[in-house]
Parts: sequence; C-alpha cells; structure tokens
Amino acid sequence: WKHAPRTFRDLLQNSRFQGEKVFLIYEDERITYEEHFRRAATLARRLVEDYGLRRGDRVALAMRNYPEWVVAFSAILAAGAVAVPLNAWWTGQELAYGLADSGARLLIADAERAARAAEAGGPEIPVIIARGPGANLAEVMGEVRADVTLPPVDLGPDDLATIFYTSGTTGRPKGALGTHRNLGQAPMTVAYAMMRATLLAGKDPAETTSAERITLLAVPLFHVTGCFAVLIPTIFSGGGLALMYKWDAERALRTIERARVTGLAGVPTNAWQLLSHPALERYDISSLGSISYGGAPAPPKLRERITELLPGRAPANGYGMTETTGLAIYNCGTDYAARPDSIGLPLAVNDVKICDPGGAELPPGEVGELCIRGPIVISGYWNQPEATAQTFVDGWLHTGDLARVDEEGFVYIVDRAKDMVIRGGENVYCAEVEAALFDHPGVDDVAVIGVPHEELGEEVGAVVRRAPGSDVSADELRTFVRERLAGFKVPATVWFLEEELPRNPGGKILKTALRRRVLGS
Ligand code: ATP
Ligand code: MG
Repeated sequence: WKHAPRTFRDLLQNSRFQGEKVFLIYEDERITYEEHFRRAATLARRLVEDYGLRRGDRVALAMRNYPEWVVAFSAILAAGAVAVPLNAWWTGQELAYGLADSGARLLIADAERAARAAEAGGPEIPVIIARGPGANLAEVMGEVRADVTLPPVDLGPDDLATIFYTSGTTGRPKGALGTHRNLGQAPMTVAYAMMRATLLAGKDPAETTSAERITLLAVPLFHVTGCFAVLIPTIFSGGGLALMYKWDAERALRTIERARVTGLAGVPTNAWQLLSHPALERYDISSLGSISYGGAPAPPKLRERITELLPGRAPANGYGMTETTGLAIYNCGTDYAARPDSIGLPLAVNDVKICDPGGAELPPGEVGELCIRGPIVISGYWNQPEATAQTFVDGWLHTGDLARVDEEGFVYIVDRAKDMVIRGGENVYCAEVEAALFDHPGVDDVAVIGVPHEELGEEVGAVVRRAPGSDVSADELRTFVRERLAGFKVPATVWFLEEELPRNPGGKILKTALRRRVLGS
C-alpha cells in the first residue's frame, strides 16, 4: 500500500498500480486500471474546475451498468463530492424525486434516463450525458492525459461518500448516508468472506489472491450488492469486472465463456435462471468457480441444484442491506452444505444480536429482530431524522428482519417483520411457507402473502408460478405443505400466475404489487 487507504481517493490511486491489467469488460470494450484512473481523474478535475463542485455536494448518477457508471462514480468521489446513484428502473417522476430529495447539483446519466428525468420536469441542474444519442461526456472531459492527477481536496474518512437509496420493498426508498470509512470497510468484509470460502473448500489461502478473479456482475451498480459487495472490492483487489447492460441468462453464459469469468455475483433469481437455461450445456463455462448470491431469500433448493448441475462451483449466500454497505453475514463451503437454510456467520468485526420488541437481547434459538453493529453500518438516512432514530439505536442497526442465531453463531433469517402474516394470533413466516412450496417440483416461483380475513385477521395466501409442463393443483400443493408444516401455515388460497412474479432489481418480490394484483387491494 503506497497510499494508506483513508478515503476512496487512496483506493483509486492504489488501483493504478494494476497498470494495463483489464478492469472493466463490457461487450467488446475493455478498460484497464490505468485508463480508468486517467478518465476518473480527468472527470474529477472537470467537476471541480468547470462545474465548481465542492466537498459534500451531491451528484446524481442515473445509468444502466455501463463502464461510464464506474468512471463517473470514481470521479465524483475523487472530487470530494457525494455520489447519489439513482435506480435506472425508476420512472421520470421517481428520478425527479431522487434528484430533489438528494438536492443534487449535477446529474450524470445515459441518454434514456436524462430524457426521462427531463420529461418529468426534474430540478434545473446541469446534465452530463454519458452514453447514447447526444452524449457529451467526452467533450466535457476534453483530453485525457497520461500525467493527470486527482484534484486537490481535503477529505477524511468521516466525510460523506455516497447516498444509496434502499430498494423500497417496504415503503418509499430512503437515502442511506455512507461515509468513506463505511466504503473502505466493504472490501474488508468481502476479503474475509473470500478467505473463508477458500479455507472451507480446503484450498491454499494463497489462492484467495483475487487479482486473478473476473467477476460477472448480474445486478445493477446502483444497489449495494453491485457497488459495495462487488465493484469496490474488485477495485481493492485488482480483479476484472464484467458488466451487462441488463441481466439475461444466455448473454451471461456467453460472457462467462468469452471473458473466462471466474465468479458470478447477483441475486438468487440470477443463479436460478442460469441453472435452468436450456442452453446451459452449449457453453464452455469451465472457468466459473463460484456462484454467489444474496440480497433476497435463497431457498435451500438453490444450493442443492447448483451442486447437482454444476459440481465444483462453490455456491455462497450473502446477507446485506443498503444500511450495511453491502455484505454483512455470509455462508459458504461446508458450512453452507451443513446449514443450507442459514445466511452464515457475521463477517469481519461486525457484531449481531437478536432483540425482542423492547430491545432486550434474546438467547440463541429465539426469534426476534436482527440487529447489526460495526464499521460497515451507516450513520443514518438523508433528511429523515425519525426513521434514523428508529433504525439506529445506541450504535445498533435494527434491520427489520426477524431472525434467530444458533449456539454456534449461525444466523437464520425467518422473515421480514413487515411480511409476517398474523393468522388468528399465530405468527406465520412467509419465508418458511415459501421454502416448503419451493421444494415441490411443480413450483417454479412462489410468494406468500397475507390475505385479509374477518375472523382471523389474516389468512395465508400463495401466488405460484408453475414449472414448465407442470399442472400441479392448489389441493396438491396444500397437501404437500401440510405434510411439512403445521396446519395453520397451509395456504388457504393459491393463485396461479402464468407470467413471472414481479421483482425489483434487487431480486425481491414486489409483494405490494402482487397483493394488489390478486386481491385488487
Ligand atoms: P426498503 O428498506 O426500502 O424497504 P429493502 O430492505 O429491500 O428496501 P435493501 O437494503 O436492498 O432494501 O435490502 C435489504 C434486505 O434484503 C434485508 O433487510 C433482507 O430482508 C433482505 N436480504 C438481503 N440479503 C438476504 C439474504 N441473503 N437472505 C434473505 N434476505 C436477504
Ligand atoms: Mg430495508
């Protein structure tokens, strides 16, 4: 380490020592570490010198997973400004909300999202178009010189680096305030995860040297998994990162073959779709050594299928939140084989505890709210003092997830507190019923929801997408669940959908939309 890493600027400077090694892969484009540094430093200078950006100013990013996303992100942070990645799936109205909420002074977007934001009449701020018709990024940057240096900025680890919006699964997305210190810890957590995976696989720890890794990113950069669990650790370790405009299983198979990808990182749905793709056999994916997923519940059946269909490809399940700057808890190797329903052990120097609604710590085995403490935990939400006070108590992040911990410290997610169905006073954890239904071969995808009921308050309902060729009936599924779980957990109603269940880019089922769809309310 030539530059002691205190802020992202040091991480960026250090990455330059990778020189001509390929950093970003996008279709036929390749960007080396040196080239990335030069472009990011050049843009950072323009942001400071031409746009007058100062330390702490917010700059919004709205793009698909183009290499320019990474260059712009690096430039914003290197300029001492705060990157505000907006969800590329958002409508014009939502983008306008993100811009106004964050008080962004500048927007860097692809042409499509720039147009969308403009149509919705977002705030009057300058826009740099990074890709597509009308792109002016190259003009803005001017000549990219070999001797470019970062603009001088006085920045410390407690300065704000990012505002990432939460996925909005349970309400309006909240802006998570991430500092340079939080960001700097993210690769530490991932390094611990990699080391654990290597050791549990009985391999030489030296093989953890991740500079040889090429990761295919299946998920957007504007969520924490993409940025903090994959991009930042890649910059830290000097590996390669293959980007996709948009997830597509066959395109992923082709990219793995062509770019000799060594690891796939995404959400459980990506892994499922890759495994069940009819063209799986046609591609040479022998380079692929690991399949990691997280961000949404992964049914134990997923791990089983990976070991069956792609032996030797280590599956791993990671738990993280926007509020934990990416990965926080991780399960892999023999641990994962022995406990396929667990999210594993806390990583690095983070602590976890399980609390009752009053905040008192519960003993192993009991279900309560999962709380996390450590250097990856952010300090609060942007402009939301109430939500901040409720979620961050005495240094502990209250995750809103119900979980239990076993005697050895392994964590099991039971459900999201807001998802739980309360049927006549009995708690029914949707995730448990979903996992039982997933075990049926006729089920391709499933979501369990609460259905209003006069006497019981709520009843259990299941929305199922059948596996291709299956004609499994509601009664058969109910019988199947009854053999596995207590009677009150058996879905009273089962709806079948022909199309895919609606998911957000984080791989989470949009239960509110689904409920509206099947219940009309
Ligand atoms: P919002 O907070 O706006 O409602 P969100 O919680 O979905 O949205 P994220 O921060 O992207 O936004 O997601 C974090 C949540 O994802 C966790 O609280 C947890 O419920 C879920 N999650 C993440 N990883 C896993 C995992 N490996 N297994 C089960 N659930 C997971
Ligand atoms: Mg959340």
